[in-house]
Amino acid sequence: MKLRSILTDNVAGLQRSARLAGRETMTISSNELRAAGLKSTLPRRKILEVMESRGTRHMSAEDIYRSLLESEEDVGLATVYRVLTQFEAAGLVAKHNFEGGHSVYELNQGEHHDHILCVKCGKVEEFVDEVIEQRQHDIADKAGFAMTDHCLYIYGICADCQKEEAGV
Ligand SMILES: [Zn+2]
Ligand SMILES: [Zn+2]
Repeated sequence: MKLRSILTDNVAGLQRSARLAGRETMTISSNELRAAGLKSTLPRRKILEVMESRGTRHMSAEDIYRSLLESEEDVGLATVYRVLTQFEAAGLVAKHNFEGGHSVYELNQGEHHDHILCVKCGKVEEFVDEVIEQRQHDIADKAGFAMTDHCLYIYGICADCQKEEAGV
């Protein structure tokens, strides 16, 4: 938890200085990699840039690979998987293994949150519910556990996919 908050502070600070300095995404990524104890290699920087620049916070390895292809970056899918595993081990990204073998990655920024996922189109949204958070602490306390983490995924069909199913 400590490492994560340090990283988050670094990221916020770096993004601020980047905004001041214009578009220096290369520098941001390099600093972040160094802060996480990883050497700044081209594939690592490119993958970090994709994850920072995309509008959606949750991407599969294939999403990242496709995005690199679109910007004509020569990074193979196997490399994307390998780098993401390294990022995960370094605490730079979090991996979510959803039902049906669907996995997405997100940068470890900001506060804890839970996820709701569309089983048809794969759309992922985030939520935080104080009552759910508190209940989980209560349950852990009652069981005599010192709670370290939890994850909660809600599966469903999003409003857009429901409309499509109804043929509207
Ligand atoms: Zn959907
Ligand atoms: Zn998330």
